[in-house]
Amino acid sequence: MNVIMFGPPGAGKGTQAKLLQEKRKLPQLSTGDMLRAAIAAGTPLGKQVESILAKGDLVSDEIVVGIIGDRYDQPDCKNGAVFDGFPRTIAQAEALDKMLAARGRKIDVVIELKVDDTILLDRVKQRIAEGSARPDDNPETLKNRLDVYYRNTAPLLDYYKKQGKLTTLDGMAPIADVTAAIAQVLAKA
Ligand code: AMP
Repeated sequence: MNVIMFGPPGAGKGTQAKLLQEKRKLPQLSTGDMLRAAIAAGTPLGKQVESILAKGDLVSDEIVVGIIGDRYDQPDCKNGAVFDGFPRTIAQAEALDKMLAARGRKIDVVIELKVDDTILLDRVKQRIAEGSARPDDNPETLKNRLDVYYRNTAPLLDYYKKQGKLTTLDGMAPIADVTAAIAQVLAKA
């Protein structure tokens, strides 16, 4: 099964993707984590994207489609994966559909976690207070990440709605309730 976790920054995509990885043995493929690992390792790719992540802008479609394609071909994705933070543009969604079709696969479910912007800002402030904030977790960068989300990524909701794959859940509910709601959606898929 191939699942996309969809939503604005701070909606809880990563948290829920990790829980799915544990429960259903579907690897969490987070392009954000992969890019941060490249930055931490100081690879040429990391050096190329560091300032883009710091600003909260999008890395090129070519780069993220390339790293997702390589990752998806690892043996642990033989039963599918949970895509977290990818796709973020229509071009990425089309490339993902093509990549999966070439392997006789498809996206089965897209789960949107809907969260109000004010709550997202509160969550970032909480992470800063707890000391668990990422370099791009600050109120100014969040504003840009949200702008980028509404401009480039939110149009994907229509793309997947037209394919009958979209389910929208309340991302403001307690974590365990969101996990339970996701389990119900996947049971029907
Ligand atoms: P995330 O951890 O998903 O919030 O991603 C952190 C940052 O990595 C984003 O703000 C972008 O700069 C970059 N990034 C992650 N995934 C993508 C993607 N699918 N397309 C373009 N840029 C991405």
